[in-house]
Amino acid sequence: MSKPKSGECVKVVVRCRPINEKETAEGHKRVVEMDVKRGVVEVNNPKAPSEQPKKFTFDSVYDWNSKQRDLYDETFYELVDSVLQGFNGTIFAYGQTGTGKTHTMQGIKSNREEWGVIPNSFEQIFQHISQSQNQQYLVRASYLEIYQEEIRDLLSKDQTKRLELKERTDTGVYVKDLSSFVTKSVKEIEHVMNVGNNNRSVGYVSTVKCEGADGENHIRVGKLNMVDLAGSERQSKTGATGERLKEATKINLSLSTLGNVISALVDGKSTHIPYRDSKLTRLLQDSLGGNARTVMVANIGPASYNYEESMTTLRYANRAKNI
Ligand code: ADP
Ligand code: MG
Repeated sequence: MSKPKSGECVKVVVRCRPINEKETAEGHKRVVEMDVKRGVVEVNNPKAPSEQPKKFTFDSVYDWNSKQRDLYDETFYELVDSVLQGFNGTIFAYGQTGTGKTHTMQGIKSNREEWGVIPNSFEQIFQHISQSQNQQYLVRASYLEIYQEEIRDLLSKDQTKRLELKERTDTGVYVKDLSSFVTKSVKEIEHVMNVGNNNRSVGYVSTVKCEGADGENHIRVGKLNMVDLAGSERQSKTGATGERLKEATKINLSLSTLGNVISALVDGKSTHIPYRDSKLTRLLQDSLGGNARTVMVANIGPASYNYEESMTTLRYANRAKNI
C-alpha cells in the first residue's frame, strides 16, 4: 500500500438517526434532508422556514434508512484491512448525546444485521487471520477511558487507579501500566470488551493492536483505535455549574483539540499539529496523520429541536473533512 497524502487519510461521514416514537408523539418534525448519492446534507432552520436550508457536502452521508452493514463495508472495511497490513487506524463517533454514537460503534449484539463497527471489525480481523497461511498474527486488546483528562484502565481490577501517559523515543507515547490481553478469537476479544464495558462511564478509547509476523519473522504492527466520544452538547445550555461545569470544560477540551488536530492534518499545510493539547490526541498521535487512516462519523438527530446542535456538529465535521 502506498502512503496516502496527508489529508487523504482522513474521511468524514455524517449519519442521521431515524426520528423516534417519542419525537413523533411530541409533534417534532424532521428538519434534515440527505442526498445519499451526492453526499449532501441540508438542514432547515425551524425558526426561519423561508430561509434557504444550510447545505454541507461530505465524503459520504448515511440517512435514517442506512444499514449498519453498508456503513461498515463502505466506510470501515478498508481501514481495518490496512490495520491488518500493519498501518494504524482510528475510528471516531462524534455528536450530541442520543444521536447514535454507541449505536454506530457497538450496535445491537444479538442481531447480526445490527452489529456496529466494533463487532464487525473483530469479525473481519479474526476471519482474515484464520484465512492467512504465511502469516501469523497476535491480537492484543486494551480498553481505557479518558475522563476529565484522567486515564482509567477499564480492564483493571482497581478502578480507582489513574494512569499516566509516558513517551519513549523508540515506541512513542504509551500509557504506563495499561493492561492488555492477547485474544485468539472473536469470543475472547468480546469477553475482554464486555469486562471493560461494565466499567465504563462516558468517553472511552479502545485499542486493538494486531501484530503480524510473516515467514521471515518480519513483524508488522497495526493498531486500531475505536473511540466513542463523550457527547458534544454545549454545556452552557445545560446550565451546568461548579464540578459539572469543570468536568464539561475538560470534555470539551479533548473534543475541540481533536477537531483542531484533524483539521490541521486535513489542511496539510499546517506545520504545527496540536497533538499535545489533550490526552486523547497525545495518546492517538501515532494513529492520526502520517501513514494512519482516520474515519470520523458525525452523528446527528433529525428533529427540529436538535437544530442548533446538529448545525454545531456539521460545522465541526466540515472543518475536519478533506476539501
Ligand atoms: P449516543 O451514544 O450518541 O448517546 P445512542 O447510540 O445511545 O446515542 O442512541 C440513542 C437511541 O437512538 C438508542 O435507543 C439507539 O438505539 C437509537 N438509535 C441511534 N441510531 C439509530 C439508528 N441509526 N437506527 C435506529 N435506532 C438508532
Ligand atoms: Mg453513547
